[in-house]
Amino acid sequence: MLTEAEALARILTHYSPAGLVEVPLLEALGRPVGRTLFAEVALPGFDNSAMDGYAVRAAEVVLGQRLRVIAEQAAGRDEAHVLGAGEALRIFTGAPMPGAADAVLMQEDVTLEVADGKRFICPTDTVQVGENVRRAGSDLCRGQCLLRAGEVLRPGHVGLLASQGMATVAMPRLPRVAVLSTGDELVLPGQPLLPGQLYNSNGPMLVALLRALRLPASHIEAQHCADDLQATTEALRGLTGRCEVVIISGGVSVGDHDYVKPALAALGLLPELWRVRVKPGKPFLFAQRPEGAGEPGCRVFGLPGNPVSAFVTYQLFVRPALLRLLGAEPAQCEGPRAVVTVAESLSNSGDRPHYMRGKLEAGVFTTSGRQQSHALYGLSQSHALLRLGEGEVVEAGAQRSVLLV
Ligand code: AMP
Ligand code: MG
Repeated sequence: MLTEAEALARILTHYSPAGLVEVPLLEALGRPVGRTLFAEVALPGFDNSAMDGYAVRAAEVVLGQRLRVIAEQAAGRDEAHVLGAGEALRIFTGAPMPGAADAVLMQEDVTLEVADGKRFICPTDTVQVGENVRRAGSDLCRGQCLLRAGEVLRPGHVGLLASQGMATVAMPRLPRVAVLSTGDELVLPGQPLLPGQLYNSNGPMLVALLRALRLPASHIEAQHCADDLQATTEALRGLTGRCEVVIISGGVSVGDHDYVKPALAALGLLPELWRVRVKPGKPFLFAQRPEGAGEPGCRVFGLPGNPVSAFVTYQLFVRPALLRLLGAEPAQCEGPRAVVTVAESLSNSGDRPHYMRGKLEAGVFTTSGRQQSHALYGLSQSHALLRLGEGEVVEAGAQRSVLLV
């Protein structure tokens, strides 16, 4: 049986970012950008005032010595004033600095005088050369790197790209992703639960995980099919024909009612890998049909039906593959991690690595609820997965790196 690292490495060999398309900035939020971007507009674009006050020559600012106010300059239009000897310019935050000025005296640091119909300021404090002046290019120069390909676009980046006059950004084309929930026992919301039935929780949970990756609803399709070879084959024929990624929940084990493998085989999709040495999630399956002869390529992930198994295998194998497809660099694909303090002593006497679910509070990891593969409540309370290797014991208070989910 493959280890989780081997399984992930095999899956990722089939993934690279899709071709690029231009996307409005706000639609691109939260996804890796497709191309490295460089500044075309310096920030600030021109020398300007950081304060409401008076543009001056610092050397001329002497306590009690008047300077004549020649005009006003507000933000928005450069009046191209130039200071002569003994002159100051009334100036407001963001307004272009006049020629020959080298500092701005805050309005709080002057008294105003009027004589012969002329306005004067009388400094009550001195000022240093460059004080309260924002120099052109001091924040960002032209040609400077704004964002590297594969970096996730965050709201601050949206501001930065907008400052360049950009309205769109090149992003890998979004895949169409399907979620197929298998199981005769599954019931839709609004239907009564008959004995032996349960509501389909994996379907909505997997769609939520896709939405959390910023995949829009328009690119996600969710379906259910019964435990029946023909129904499963037909559902998969349709989904693999129109989606680049298909995520199946349930039916991947070796039970008499597990039809995913035979259905994939009927469609010519042989598993690249099946079963991984991991707990929960051992029956995980990955199959793929390469692009070719008019047929789009498709990758199929078969997740075990137990909710925690489905969630954990999604995090370990599906999220990295989707992140790669969405343009993340390979090193970023495994997902965000944090170093935490483990609250209680934990051990794994089993023969597979165990991904324990836990809460994170102020950097402390506490296991949440039952650590069994059907225990959805505990999963719902968790923020992170902690990997305990076979036979590993972690003492309370130890530091460990966990996968954030
Ligand atoms: P399976 O992998 O199909 O053998 O299912 C394993 C367990 O997961 C069974 O107890 C199923 O009832 C449960 N299960 C399967 N699919 C879902 C689902 N979509 N939502 C909730 N539980 C499920
Ligand atoms: Mg089933």
